[in-house]
Amino acid sequence: MRMILIGPPGAGKGTQAESLVGSFKIPHISSGDMLRGAVKAGTELGLLADRYMKAGDLVPDEVVIGMIIERIGAADCARGFMLDGFPRTRPQAEALDAALKAARVSLDAVVLIEVPDGLILERITGRRSDPETGAIYHLKFKPPPPELEGRLVQRKDDTAEACVARLDKYHRETAPIVPFYEGAGVLVRVDGVGSPDEVFVRISAALGAAPAR
Ligand code: ADP
Ligand code: ADP
Repeated sequence: MRMILIGPPGAGKGTQAESLVGSFKIPHISSGDMLRGAVKAGTELGLLADRYMKAGDLVPDEVVIGMIIERIGAADCARGFMLDGFPRTRPQAEALDAALKAARVSLDAVVLIEVPDGLILERITGRRSDPETGAIYHLKFKPPPPELEGRLVQRKDDTAEACVARLDKYHRETAPIVPFYEGAGVLVRVDGVGSPDEVFVRISAALGAAPAR
């Protein structure tokens, strides 16, 4: 299964990917997680990406394209992968398409998780994650177990200001890739409003797979 999750920031891509990779047994490749890892490790790529990410801007295409194309060429992706957060621009979608064609493979599905703008700010500002396990929580919608509360962290770009910038980037740069995948006949639209479990059931049904829980 080769699939992509797209949707605005805070749509629930990471949350759904956590559940879906368990069903499909494929690696979850999050461009945001990879970039945050590079920032933390202080690599050249991380140093470059950091200032874009803090401001809610997109990291330049050539940097992200190289990083992801290399990653999906790794042995653990031979049977499939779940991309989360990539592609985010039309040139990224075209570069991915070319790389898949060169490898003589194709995408099975591109899942678009649709959430209205009005719900995004609350999802983003309440997001917390566990640096040890990578698990994603929400102070109101997915409260963490009390014993973990002390170690949870908030992303640097999960401020109201950066959220507004990211949402604007989504509409201007990422939304135009939707018709690209619609034209290719692989787009699946899923309503992202409702509990994470409800959305998981909708995605699984749309993909024709029985939910694993
Ligand atoms: P969210 O989960 O809120 O959608 P991500 O974790 O996917 O955010 O991405 C965080 C930030 O990392 C983005 O705002 C952007 O700066 C950078 N980033 C992630 N993926 C890409 C990409 N495909 N192209 C350019 N920048 C990216
Ligand atoms: P994305 O990867 O698209 O940016 P996340 O999966 O990180 O989104 O979710 C953003 C925030 O919203 C997290 O705090 C998460 O716990 C919460 N969340 C995810 N799905 C839902 C949902 N269906 N309803 C309410 N909150 C959700």
